[in-house]
Amino acid sequence: MPEDAERKGLGTPATRAGILEKLVSTGFLERKKNKKTVQLLPSHDAVSLITVLPEQLQSPLLTAEWEYRLGEIERGELAPEDFMAGISAMLQELVRTYRMIKGTEYLFTPPREVVGKCPRCGGDVAELQKGFFCQNEGCKFAIWKNNKWWELKRKQPTKAVVTALLKDGRAHVTGLYSEKTGKTYDATVVLEDDGKYANFKLAFDRQKGGKR
Ligand SMILES: [Zn+2]
Repeated sequence: MPEDAERKGLGTPATRAGILEKLVSTGFLERKKNKKTVQLLPSHDAVSLITVLPEQLQSPLLTAEWEYRLGEIERGELAPEDFMAGISAMLQELVRTYRMIKGTEYLFTPPREVVGKCPRCGGDVAELQKGFFCQNEGCKFAIWKNNKWWELKRKQPTKAVVTALLKDGRAHVTGLYSEKTGKTYDATVVLEDDGKYANFKLAFDRQKGGKR
């Protein structure tokens, strides 16, 4: 990358974490743990996307150029309409020049299966490799498969369990491991979302005739 790209503006360190998280949750970036270090690696889909995406759109220079123009608008040196006209012209040119290559859809992971509605924003929650994530931009609702609470019970939340949790707020789960007794048991798991984290707690089905 030319040296002035970063100076022209490629976002700020403050937005970097959010962008990386977004890339992870959308499946373009994968975290690989290697002893004590965590690497961020492009996923199979990311490599596929770079293969089929017009070169112009792949370049960080484009983002840098846009950031620079936005700066000019901020300082009153460029009219917003002129900026938008430029974008529009570029898109028209891209659509004219490029066309979809047949068969490229096989390069990508099939569309995600929606398992339910997000309790936070009502968006679609879909299953990904590492867990179940709200597909709405900006919403961070997630049920991770390697969640600590579940790990202690030597279980992972399955698709069926998450589907029930999202629908009814609770799900019947069998074979939960008890550290105290070393045995397994069945219980109702209740989902309690505090707006930041999806929390879980156990509810044991009461005896018949018991008070609710
Ligand atoms: Zn959501």
